[in-house]
Amino acid sequence: MKRTIEIDDDLQERIDDACEELKIEVIEYLKKSGPFTDEDELYQEFSDRITELADSYVPIYYYELRNLWYLHSDLLTEAYESVGIGSDPFEKDGAVAIYCHIDQEVRWWLAENADQLIAEHCPQECEDCGLENASHYNSVTHLHVCDDCISA
Ligand SMILES: [Zn+2]
Repeated sequence: MKRTIEIDDDLQERIDDACEELKIEVIEYLKKSGPFTDEDELYQEFSDRITELADSYVPIYYYELRNLWYLHSDLLTEAYESVGIGSDPFEKDGAVAIYCHIDQEVRWWLAENADQLIAEHCPQECEDCGLENASHYNSVTHLHVCDDCISA
């Protein structure tokens, strides 16, 4: 007897949603922070947050974990093994490996997009005089300004 089953494959959707959530937070952060030219700094700043986000996008129910494993076992095993945190890829019903995969994908997404996000959302020009060295954020006026304008 053959049976046909349908499995909801939402792994990519979970990754996309996590990236979208991170993107909103990064943009918010960049708008408030001083000008940022270093993407590593951004990466550091959001490292813990990515861990939390990835964790929150891991499915909760056993059948969801099983389904994702059924469809993506190679990918998930590889993600788990590349992190080097244990020897059982199916740890916690496979949730750990799914977490590892989402976490890696979100980090990869940020690494790929950090430059563009910084360029688009973090003003580099002084919003007062227009010089290209807006190295301060004035929390009173909410403007990114240069050395001269911040002390003026
Ligand atoms: Zn200025």
